[in-house]
Amino acid sequence: MIKFDEPMSRHTSWKVGGAADRFFVPADEDDLAGFLAALPASEPVTWIGLGSNVLVRDGGIRGTVISTAGMKDRLELLPGNTVGASCGTACAKVARFSARSGLAGAEFMAGIPGSVGGALAMNAGAFGAETWNIVERVELVNRAGSRTEKAGARFATGYRRVDVAANEWFLGARLRLEPDPDGRAQIRISELLARRAATQPTGRFSCGSVFKNPEGDFAGRLVDQCGLKGFAIGPAVVSDKHANFIINTGKASAADIEALILHVQTTVAQMTGIRLDPEVRIIGETGGNKQQ
Ligand SMILES: Cc1cc2nc3c(=O)[nH]c(=O)nc-3n(C[C@H](O)[C@H](O)[C@H](O)COP(=O)(O)OP(=O)(O)OC[C@H]3O[C@@H](n4cnc5c(N)ncnc54)[C@H](O)[C@@H]3O)c2cc1C
Repeated sequence: MIKFDEPMSRHTSWKVGGAADRFFVPADEDDLAGFLAALPASEPVTWIGLGSNVLVRDGGIRGTVISTAGMKDRLELLPGNTVGASCGTACAKVARFSARSGLAGAEFMAGIPGSVGGALAMNAGAFGAETWNIVERVELVNRAGSRTEKAGARFATGYRRVDVAANEWFLGARLRLEPDPDGRAQIRISELLARRAATQPTGRFSCGSVFKNPEGDFAGRLVDQCGLKGFAIGPAVVSDKHANFIINTGKASAADIEALILHVQTTVAQMTGIRLDPEVRIIGETGGNKQQ
């Protein structure tokens, strides 16, 4: 399904972002590969999963956005304690399905409000676990619509990053998990969700952690130390509960949020000498020509 001038505020967890020229929701992986093969080579392409780690600017996105969130999910138990998941499948579903299937190792995904594709692209992680630690294989598609499979071990990964060729994206992954005969994974999911609810402003419009943790420290601790909790630019506010979260408390624009990110970054650099590196990906055009 293709839409034109689609407001990206409908597809991001911050609920901000101008319109995409074209917005394509593939039915499944075959549809997606066929669409890419037929798309003129000059058309810019941007991928989006559940939009929980992107700030789309108010001027929107030129070219075509491929949205995997509305694709048909593929989630299956495979031999050798592995689980196969398509790129648009929600991480929380993967965590619950794996635990119900008697497998442990994907519990950390339960509270990450992203898709499998987004988790692969970001090397999403929580509570000491990371996505690429459990990746056995991935399926990729390139700009020409050709599909390939690669072993997870072939990718160089790090904290919230993976090296992947430009114009190559993840169609799905096969995750290697451990047997969980006592059903501890389901209990651990409940514990991790409770810990999250106690320490993070869950249920608010945010992108999770705005900044990566610097080596040996925590971005939230530094932002708090600089007295920035509650600091606001328009309706964009640094959370009182967790200083590394910026909340859209009303009708913030992407420009409000970006200005607040810059203010926090500058203040922390001036007061501590540490330059925080954004974890959130800022994309699209500035200005209001393609407003929400
Ligand atoms: C309340 C909250 C809590 C969060 N907690 C955590 C946490 O504990 N740990 C953590 O790591 N993150 C956390 N996040 C951030 C976010 O959920 C993760 O980064 C998640 O993996 C992003 O997935 P997504 O589908 O939303 O990706 P999007 O935001 O849609 O996209 C993020 C990036 O991935 C790329 N991308 C998306 N799909 C694909 C694909 N199939 N192939 C290639 N590239 C792709 C996009 O182009 C973009 O560059 C949190 C966010 C929120 C709102």
